[in-house]
Amino acid sequence: MKPFSYVTVTDMSSAIGVATAESKYLAGGTNLVDLMRAGIETPDRLVDISRLPLAEIEDLPGGGLRIGALARNTRVASDGRVRDRYPVLAQAILNGASPQLRNRATVGGNLLQRTRCGYFYDQHSACNKREPGAGCDALDGFNRMHAILGASEGCIAVHPSDMCVALAALDAVVNIAGRDPVPLVDFHRLPGDTPHVETVLRPGELIMSIDLPPALPGHSAYLKVRDRASYAFALVSVAVLVRMEAGLAASVRLALGGVAHKPWRAYEAERLLTGTSLDDDLLRQAAEQALADARPLRHNAFKPELVRRLIHRALKGARS
Ligand code: SF4
Repeated sequence: MKPFSYVTVTDMSSAIGVATAESKYLAGGTNLVDLMRAGIETPDRLVDISRLPLAEIEDLPGGGLRIGALARNTRVASDGRVRDRYPVLAQAILNGASPQLRNRATVGGNLLQRTRCGYFYDQHSACNKREPGAGCDALDGFNRMHAILGASEGCIAVHPSDMCVALAALDAVVNIAGRDPVPLVDFHRLPGDTPHVETVLRPGELIMSIDLPPALPGHSAYLKVRDRASYAFALVSVAVLVRMEAGLAASVRLALGGVAHKPWRAYEAERLLTGTSLDDDLLRQAAEQALADARPLRHNAFKPELVRRLIHRALKGARS
C-alpha cells in the first residue's frame, strides 16, 4: 500500500483546510479501505471526519428531513420518521449490504461508493475508470451486471447503491460545504469519456447532509432483484412513489437501479402515467418508455425484461 498521512479533525473548517487534491475523507471506510488495500485508491492523506458533528437526523421547517452525511445506514433505516414518512428509503437501505456493513457505512459514503465492476478491481484488466485512457475490458468481457442505459464506449459500469435509487425517487438534495445544494439526480455523472469522474463533487469538497422534501403521501415501494437473497448488489431495482386521488395517479415518481452509471429517473414514463388509473396497458407502455433507450450488452439482454416486470409489479401496488 502506498504510504499516506492520517489526520483526525473535529470541526468543518479544519476538515476542509487540511484536505488536498490528493486526499480522501474517511468516514465508515467500508469501500475506501478495501480500495486502498487493493491499490486502486492511493490518497496521499486520509482525513478522518468521523468525529465531525454531521450524524444527526433533523426535521426541517415545512415538513422535510435533513440526514447528516455521517449518519450510519442502520440508524437512518431505523429512524421512526424515515420509516413513517419515507419508507421507500428504509426499504432500500435494508436491501443493501449486510447488517455489519450498514452499522458502519455512512450516508455520505453510500453516495460516493464506487462501482463493483470486476475489471475495475482487477489490476491486470484495462479499466478507464481506474486508469484513464487504458480501455475497458468489460466491453467484450463478462458484462452481466453492467449498464443498459446511459453507458459509453469508455465505461459500462453501474452505480451500486440501493439507497441512492430511493433518494432519486424522493427528489433528495445533497448539501455540500461551500456551494449550492445539488439535486441527487444531478450529483452522479454519466461516464462519457471521463468515467473516472463519477460525481460533481470537486477535490476537497465535503458532503454535509441530504435533504428530503416533505413526504409524498401514498404508495411507495423499493423492489430489487439480485442473485442471492441478501448481501448482493442489484441486477436491477425500482423505487416508486405514487399519490392517487379519486382513482387517478396525481403524482408518479419512478427511479431505476442497476441499469446505469447513476440512479436513473424515468421522467418520460412518469409523465405518461400521471393523471391515469395505472391500468395494465399503461403500465406496460410506461415500462417500454422507461427502456426506450436501453442498449443491452452481450451478457445482460435479460435486464430490460426484468426491469419491465419490476416496474409493473411496483406500480400495480399503488392501485389497491
Ligand atoms: Fe472500468 Fe467501467 Fe470498463 Fe468496468 S465498465 S472495466 S469500471 S471502464
